[in-house]
Amino acid sequence: MGALGVPLPARVAARAAAPALWRRVSAMATRGAGGATIITTAATPTAAPAVAGAAGLSSLPSMWSLRARPPLTGAAASAAAAASTTAGAPPPPSDASAATGEPEGGTFLEGVDANFRAASAHLRSVDPALLENIRRCNSTTEFAFPLKRDDGSITTLTGYRAVHSHHMTPSKGGIRYAPSVSRSEVEALACLMTLKCAVVEVPYGGAKGGVAINRGDYSPAEVERITRRFTSELYRRNLIGPAVDVPAPDFGTTAGDMAHIKDTYMQLEGGSMFGAAAVTGKPVSQGGIRGREEATGLGVYFGVREFLSNKTVATAAGLPTPWSIPASTFAIQGLGNVGYWAAHFIAKNGGRITTVGERDGTVSDPAGVDVEALKLHLTNNGGSVVGFANGGSPSLSVVADPAAVLSADVDVLIPAALEGAITTANAKAVRAKVVAEAANGPVTAGADVVLAAAGVVVLPDLVMNAGGVTVSYFEVAKNLAGLRFGRLTQRAEEAAMANLLATLQSHGVTITDRDRRRLIIGADERAHVYSGLEDSMCAACGETVKVAAELGVSLRIAAYFTAIRRVAETFESRGLWP
Ligand code: NAD
Repeated sequence: MGALGVPLPARVAARAAAPALWRRVSAMATRGAGGATIITTAATPTAAPAVAGAAGLSSLPSMWSLRARPPLTGAAASAAAAASTTAGAPPPPSDASAATGEPEGGTFLEGVDANFRAASAHLRSVDPALLENIRRCNSTTEFAFPLKRDDGSITTLTGYRAVHSHHMTPSKGGIRYAPSVSRSEVEALACLMTLKCAVVEVPYGGAKGGVAINRGDYSPAEVERITRRFTSELYRRNLIGPAVDVPAPDFGTTAGDMAHIKDTYMQLEGGSMFGAAAVTGKPVSQGGIRGREEATGLGVYFGVREFLSNKTVATAAGLPTPWSIPASTFAIQGLGNVGYWAAHFIAKNGGRITTVGERDGTVSDPAGVDVEALKLHLTNNGGSVVGFANGGSPSLSVVADPAAVLSADVDVLIPAALEGAITTANAKAVRAKVVAEAANGPVTAGADVVLAAAGVVVLPDLVMNAGGVTVSYFEVAKNLAGLRFGRLTQRAEEAAMANLLATLQSHGVTITDRDRRRLIIGADERAHVYSGLEDSMCAACGETVKVAAELGVSLRIAAYFTAIRRVAETFESRGLWP
């Protein structure tokens, strides 16, 4: 056995097989849904491992297989070069799955179920019937509702709310506005929310909802009407409330939408002392908490740092040890809320972001992409990368291919758009050593197998993007307390430190003004939030690495295992009613 409980022959075999597998990769350029040139890889029967289904996943290769990553050469490189333009922009695809293709090897929900079952197989002391009860979604509500458009016409829209688990209440999960929203998608995401909450010890069940729209097709006034009507549909079905079910932002929704949800809830409720806690991710002026906007991306940064600072994980990925952010390169798919903030904190801590993929193209610069400038450019240009100059950098290239980011030659690839971005069709083109799942479900079950065989370490979504719900939990706590964190303590902490420094000074210690400015800082709300978030992320990463080593499984299965065990313990200790 190897040091991590993985049979050595499997690791040796993976090392031997990987180069051959990679040599069979070929790439071809095709026209994508939005007219964009998209690079896909042609899978050969021998190169594509059996897609992991419910039965096959129990034999998922461990993350600990040794890696062998050949460079993208030949046809793949030529296709990438052929796709290079100085951005004659094609019309943008309406969503990430339109650009990257449906996940094969089953739906997103089937992939989540398969991971659940693979992890459950290690929970031998838990009644399998209880595990099956935990796996299933408690309820999914689908409703149609009308929208009066600005031009007076009427459109019928479809909304969903899936509540996966009531093992703890309230249930918690985002609201998504995307064409991909469906019963099956919200059920998969709701299950992930139950497990994610358990991984970071947030005392909630999981839920998810959304409306099947492309937000860009509607005016701001129409989006507000959609949000308010959607909220009223939840309200009349008892699917929203501080003790019941608490939405939050997700793909396609913003803090402004959460303000509209809160206001609608308060209007319908007729005044409520705790009404602000009916939704999180609100603007601060509406009872939101400082630090929530950046929480998920900051959590991604903490997750990357914690996982890759672990010697075993870094070694498995083929990264140097000790690993450091400043010595590493990063690629980000999707510069929305999660992707932007992850990029912001990585860059702030010295990491070099060399590639960013957005809806209508990919920008690359080996000297580093200025993510602040790119975010501003996207905001000012309707989300298009066209015309981005990166401060006039001579090494900048812009390709009209949103998927090109996935084959960027970087240490860490961070998919932060939608599920199903990396499939068996394109997994072999991934050149990163690590895929850090900032989005929910960006790596399909089949692609997981391909990446593991190639020695690419996947940092799982259950942990990586749990920062959002962690800080939402702090926001609910703030709303229920009716008090900002730090308000009672900030000045007291500063006074205590000032007294300490004065005492030291009186005993002859030299304290400069600079020392005083640095040390006399009481923790304000944001400092409390960052501290709690970092603590939660570090604990979750540490536990996941420990369980992966103990069981000899991937980090993903380890995270599922921990989460399911915690949910099962809740049921076992309280019993089933009646
Ligand atoms: P968002 O709407 O703020 O950003 C998504 C970004 O992806 C947008 O900039 C969009 O233009 C871009 N995009 C869409 N299709 C793309 C494509 N084909 N290629 C490249 N970019 C593309 O959404 P978000 O809130 O950042 O959520 C992103 C992911 O993170 C989702 O999977 C979501 O479920 C997950 N997540 C979000 C939160 C949160 O707090 N917002 C928390 C946990 C998980």
